[in-house]
Amino acid sequence: MLWDAELDIVIAGAGGCGLAAALAAAEKSPVLEVAVFEKTHQVMGNTASSAGMIPAAGTRFQRDIGIWETYEEMAEDILKKNRSESDKALVLALSKTSGPLVEWLVDSLGIELSLISEFKYPGQRNCRMHAPKSRSGMELIRSLRRKVSERDNIYLLLQSEVTRLIANERREIIGVEVQTPDGKQRIRANKVILATNGFGANKEMVRKYIPEFADALYFGYEGNTGDAIKMGEQVGADFASLGAYQGHSAVSETHGILVTWGTIMLGGFMVNEEGRRFGDESQGYSEFAMLVLQQSGKHGYLIFDHEIYSQLLSIEDFKNLAEIDAFKIADTIEELGSQLKLNPSGLQHTFEDFQQCAERGEDQFGRKLFPKRLAPPFYGIKVVPALFHTQGGLKINTNAQVLNKQGEVIVNLYAGGGAAAGVSGNHAYGYMSGNGLLAALGFGKIAGDHAATTILQERGANE
Ligand SMILES: Cc1cc2nc3c(=O)[nH]c(=O)nc-3n(C[C@H](O)[C@H](O)[C@H](O)COP(=O)(O)OP(=O)(O)OC[C@H]3O[C@@H](n4cnc5c(N)ncnc54)[C@H](O)[C@@H]3O)c2cc1C
Repeated sequence: MLWDAELDIVIAGAGGCGLAAALAAAEKSPVLEVAVFEKTHQVMGNTASSAGMIPAAGTRFQRDIGIWETYEEMAEDILKKNRSESDKALVLALSKTSGPLVEWLVDSLGIELSLISEFKYPGQRNCRMHAPKSRSGMELIRSLRRKVSERDNIYLLLQSEVTRLIANERREIIGVEVQTPDGKQRIRANKVILATNGFGANKEMVRKYIPEFADALYFGYEGNTGDAIKMGEQVGADFASLGAYQGHSAVSETHGILVTWGTIMLGGFMVNEEGRRFGDESQGYSEFAMLVLQQSGKHGYLIFDHEIYSQLLSIEDFKNLAEIDAFKIADTIEELGSQLKLNPSGLQHTFEDFQQCAERGEDQFGRKLFPKRLAPPFYGIKVVPALFHTQGGLKINTNAQVLNKQGEVIVNLYAGGGAAAGVSGNHAYGYMSGNGLLAALGFGKIAGDHAATTILQERGANE
């Protein structure tokens, strides 16, 4: 077969997973040549749209504020959230790698991360989200890209879509086909890592695998059209959890900006047009999104107070919303209801009931999270539910190697992030905050490490 180029490791997709994989592999040895092919004209991916929050257990940032957490505790939380639907070995592997991953990002790559100590996300027993200062994925992806550009042995090529995996007669992967602006190229590769995320931007696939949420707004990256699944199918790969996804209940459609669920975790609530609550918001924004979609107008309204507002201004998206006056503000609930054009008596009644529930510490929906009673001035914003990304994909083992339908490793093929089946089980309720970047950066690093180490070992054996 004629090849246009030969490389050690080829990575499809320049999001968090792809760049972490490239950096992990390239730092193993300067003699390893790594290429990252990105389909679109920029390095963004969902990673740029994210809040950049990476969950990790046992980090020094946790210990600094007195949190001593084991990776087994983190794994337990993830499994509890997804009702033990995901592969336990993968959950343990990712949880174990999470602490060293965050410290690698900070110490080896120089990416500034700090622990979010203002609030805990649903299902997390401790504060374990680590994020860039701005709490923005844009900062994270820019830092990763900067690090990639500093390495002589990583080539990053834009507008280069990996279209096909090339296998030999033993069904081992030996290269890829790439569509570039100059035409089709065949690249020989010792190892291939698929980091092309899921199928959120592919309406047809969403309708097939997640029909119940197909009407929701897609709030992720345009390039994520299910390519890993299509390429995997051609080489006999197995799949898992194709119905799993990260939904979110609170995007400001008017401004195209995410409203943090910190509004709820710090003591706020959500109502519909009638001014009525319709469920336990604290269970998680992913599964709650389905309930929002079922309300009249397919939207909801977040209600919180000034203290909560002030606590969340450290989050860039939230600060941006504040700066463009996206929130309605009023001294009374009645006035807030009228500004939001809600049924005023409905909202007043709901508010009084909510305050009593906060006093008792529980409500009719089973919510037990009431950190405070709300006090004026009050804040509100209209929000819509959205699909952020899909969580099902290629079946992998704890080395991020792709498995075939017989459960065997497809030689030389790896996957991570949204391209692989993650740790969120099979439904929206299984998504725990942070599972997205954990699977992207965690399996990216695992794949990069394993691919590079294997090549170096094979070479050592052949010398
Ligand atoms: C608004 C929002 C907020 C979020 N916040 C968080 C958060 O705080 N914490 C968290 O854990 N998760 C969060 N997530 C989820 C998280 O962003 C994703 O799980 C994660 O970024 C996935 O990383 P990835 O590398 O797999 O994919 P991406 O970052 O999407 O990268 C995939 C890349 O592959 C490219 N590509 C696709 N097909 C091909 C192909 N055939 N050839 C070459 N390139 C290809 C795409 O163009 C894209 O650039 C959030 C998501 C959204 C939308």
